[in-house]
Amino acid sequence: ANQGQPRRIKALDPNVVNKIAAGEIIVAPVHALKELMENAVDAGATSLEIVVKDGGLKLLQITDNGCGIEKDDLAILCERFTTSKLQKFEDLQSIATYGFRGEALASISHIAHLSVTTKTKSSTVAWRAYYESGKLSPPKPGQSSDPKPVAGRQGTQITVEDLFYNIPTRRRAFRSVSDEYNKIIDMVGRYAVHCAHVAFSCKKQGESSTSIAIQSHATRSERVRQIHGGSVASELLEFSTSDARWHFTAEGLLSNANYSAKKTILLLFINHRCVESSNIRKSIEHTYSSFLPKGGHPFVYLSLQIDPERVDVNVHPTKREVNFLNEDEIIQAICEHIRSKLAAVDTSRAFLTQT
Ligand code: ADP
Ligand code: MG
Repeated sequence: ANQGQPRRIKALDPNVVNKIAAGEIIVAPVHALKELMENAVDAGATSLEIVVKDGGLKLLQITDNGCGIEKDDLAILCERFTTSKLQKFEDLQSIATYGFRGEALASISHIAHLSVTTKTKSSTVAWRAYYESGKLSPPKPGQSSDPKPVAGRQGTQITVEDLFYNIPTRRRAFRSVSDEYNKIIDMVGRYAVHCAHVAFSCKKQGESSTSIAIQSHATRSERVRQIHGGSVASELLEFSTSDARWHFTAEGLLSNANYSAKKTILLLFINHRCVESSNIRKSIEHTYSSFLPKGGHPFVYLSLQIDPERVDVNVHPTKREVNFLNEDEIIQAICEHIRSKLAAVDTSRAFLTQT
């Protein structure tokens, strides 16, 4: 229909660009929640309370007791590339591995209604601010967009409402709010196992019972017991290994050969960020295959710390999978260690049954 004259090329409005980018990074409510949990933990919080409505599409609210945000920073909080976590290009190389360099709150503010209530230790009051498309905005038309003083405790509460309200095709694509809630519970559970000394709670708005409730002093295996049940929690081995050649340390919990599940549960953290890695998953399953009955699968919580400069930063923002240097060597070293742990238990059991 449009033969003949080419259409002229025009620059997109920056708000349209930001909205498209945000929709690519935050595909489902759980992706927003993950960023908000990481921010709370980064802020030194020892308590995270999460409230969800309609699978996070109507409401995602996370309240932490971290350091809070200075009132004077509220004006730029949700602009793109504003961050307190890195300054120099070199920092960017070593920290911004998962595609978020001061982009999370900005992204959310482009595709949801975002409000923040925050109080630092030195401030006498808490401040509340509302955001649209990266900028402070009035809570109601005609009101001032300046942050308002309110009563509140130290820490930060972030409220995300009506996610994807301005991307109707995306909003309509969510068929089941309970699927979205389950993804949220899964992600909260992962961080609740990983973040020792941090209390977590997660519930649906208006319900008194919690889906997850972990106290700050709970040990890691107590956390696994509460989230994944007693049958796995009573069959766990602690492990820890490192290799200076590949600049990594790894620690975590493994199910022993007495435990076998229909599906592998792998809670994987690389440099304290929850990630996926099909290479690690496959290698772990392969390692276990000689210890478990056919079709049996393990539970593994693995926290891997790699020299940040060796983690490949050249990954697309939407990728939840990560790449890092010497991946084969590191995976092999971890799996050899897992094999030796499992074998040690197996021999002691064989020894016990013999005598
Ligand atoms: P990034 O985490 O990459 O810096 P974000 O957009 O997630 O980018 O957050 C921007 C900044 O807002 C952070 O660097 C931090 O200073 C501040 N911030 C966000 N959430 C919190 C929080 N819960 N407590 C304290 N500060 C926060
Ligand atoms: Mg962040």
